[in-house]
Amino acid sequence: MSKNKKQLAVLGSTGSIGTQTLNVVSQHPDLFKIFLISANSNHDLLYQQVKKFNPKHVVINTKVGYDFLKKKINQKTTTISLGMDALSELVKSDEIDLVLTAVVGSAGLVPTISAISANKNIALANKETLVVGGELIMNLAKKNGVRILPVDSEHSAIFQCLIGEDFSTVNRLILTASGGPFLNFSKKDFNNITVSQALKHPNWSMGNKITIDSSTLMNKGFELIEAYWLFGLSEKKIDIIIHPESIIHSLVEFVDGSTKAQLGWPDMTIPILYSLGFPNRICHPFKPLSLVDCQNLTFFEPDLFRFPHLQLAYSCLERGGTATCVLNAANEIAVEAFLNKQISFLNMFKLVEMSLEKSIFVNNPNLEDYLYADSETRKITSELISKI
Ligand code: NAD
Ligand code: MG
Repeated sequence: MSKNKKQLAVLGSTGSIGTQTLNVVSQHPDLFKIFLISANSNHDLLYQQVKKFNPKHVVINTKVGYDFLKKKINQKTTTISLGMDALSELVKSDEIDLVLTAVVGSAGLVPTISAISANKNIALANKETLVVGGELIMNLAKKNGVRILPVDSEHSAIFQCLIGEDFSTVNRLILTASGGPFLNFSKKDFNNITVSQALKHPNWSMGNKITIDSSTLMNKGFELIEAYWLFGLSEKKIDIIIHPESIIHSLVEFVDGSTKAQLGWPDMTIPILYSLGFPNRICHPFKPLSLVDCQNLTFFEPDLFRFPHLQLAYSCLERGGTATCVLNAANEIAVEAFLNKQISFLNMFKLVEMSLEKSIFVNNPNLEDYLYADSETRKITSELISKI
């Protein structure tokens, strides 16, 4: 094995981003080697991935999955571990060059902190990590000289537009949003939205949680918070614009009136490739972008009346402290309740708002404060479900 191969840890390897990442890696065996993979419960797929990539370590969260893998895998070549504590230890391994975090939800926070503490560069798909503890993460990354390379397509676009620029000459960031499947629904139509309708995203095929977040525009609210921490620009200088075709992935406006954008077909392979290869671009087969085939590219202002989560993201960001951590936890519970058909689409908005009013708030939080705010909010939100 060449010494120059980047050794990767892929957290959440069985998900939408995780599988696309492994797909990229399988096409570039000369550049990358999988050192560690982890998943929550999908032991069948995890086992297939172990067979294909021969990682040094595999981590799963369920005892059932752990017992299954122990029976199937030769532990001389791959060690098998159970749970997030084991994962947080293994991400510190000397051999790892880059940790790609594609876990869903606030579960990504602790292993990411652990990896940064061990000076690992991060390719970050798990945006909730920055929503929950952005200040903590960015301070630790700065202290340890660690790079946080965005995998989210909008942030990858901005990151790419900023290469070679003096950041003090940035005037504004413009995040684009597809608007989700209910862009043209009236508020009245929101009453009857079903889970299967909400799971049909017009442009992207993604995990269930982010697909629901895209339908409420919570995802764009989280991306605003993500951009704030990644690029260190005031939220007043980050605009959101609806662009249903998802061809322009985001833009940067500079002080001289020049605006740069990054374009491409909606395909997560591109930001994944960029984060894995950085600072180099990887030569990879692609379908050329044809602007003629795109026909009309359209743009609209977001509607905060129909999609109030977007406003909540701005106000929680302005409040600071644990406010965005609470927003994330309340939203995770609300999305789960909607997916389980316990609450309606509209009640997701209501539940998150009610939960924000009731939840605790800590200024200048440390890790324990974030974890406490996260777990308390989950309890409060779960209790509120029966009341709405
Ligand atoms: P997914 O649901 O398809 O996959 C999630 C992965 O995380 C799975 O491997 C699962 O086993 C693991 N996981 C789930 N819960 C866990 C837990 N409690 N502890 C440990 N592991 C757990 O999700 P996804 O669509 O791949 O999204 C992953 C992350 O990337 C999310 O934060 C999402 O917002 C972000 N993201 C996704 C896309 C996309 O196109 N899918 C685009 C941009 C950003
Ligand atoms: Mg995105």
